[in-house]
Amino acid sequence: MGNAPFIKKLRKDGRSILTEFESKNFLRQKGIPIVETRLARTQKEAVLLSQKIGFPVVLKIASPDIVHKSDSGGVKLGLKSVSEIRMAYREIMDAIKKQNPCAVIEGVTVQKMAKSGIEVIVGASKDPQFGPVLMFGLGGVFVEVLKDVSFRIIPINRKDAREMIEEIKGYPLLQGYRGKKPADLPALIEILFKISRLMEENPEIKELDLNPVIAYEKGALAVDARIILEKEEPLF
Ligand code: ADP
Ligand code: MG
Repeated sequence: MGNAPFIKKLRKDGRSILTEFESKNFLRQKGIPIVETRLARTQKEAVLLSQKIGFPVVLKIASPDIVHKSDSGGVKLGLKSVSEIRMAYREIMDAIKKQNPCAVIEGVTVQKMAKSGIEVIVGASKDPQFGPVLMFGLGGVFVEVLKDVSFRIIPINRKDAREMIEEIKGYPLLQGYRGKKPADLPALIEILFKISRLMEENPEIKELDLNPVIAYEKGALAVDARIILEKEEPLF
């Protein structure tokens, strides 16, 4: 099944990994809150787009061959002027060319620099036994080192989503601590619920990551996204 024409076309072209830019455009259409993100093909275009978006901005490598952008030197945060944009553009291209000279480079994405908040992760993948599953956790060391995450089989309802959030060990951090503001739980619940529905409606999606979503006292915003499609016809 699967009814997104955009996904059908990509699969026809033999592509299975969507770039961050493509993933974000798709997810925005599906109602997920996504930070403003544009694609610049040249350094000049990167400067123009950052002036349009307004400083501070973020520059990131845009390449179908580079999945871990910061590990490759492909992410520059908090750029505040035209000269900083120019320098960041050059540094990104130098780093990528050194690391992966064969990578196809589309350019860079120019993004609004999101305010700081609490970083969380929302993911979906397909378990060979259970089928599509949804994951939630706190960003950074909480997921990578402490594996503090919760899972549910898709589909979920909003009550399941709330329970997923409440059951991670780091939940108190979302309730606010040491002067930090609490996170907007209904906004996170809505994202989990929408991702569950999107996975149900698009069985061609094999894996999906919003890493991170930044949670605020009011609202939440995904600043990075990745979608991987099934190579074969999906079983579920
Ligand atoms: P990677 O491919 O390495 O995961 P990300 O796009 O996630 O690259 O960027 C790395 C980190 O930079 C994120 O985890 C987040 O903390 C920060 N970041 C990325 N994009 C933005 C943005 N638009 N605004 C603010 N912070 C950002
Ligand atoms: Mg990321």
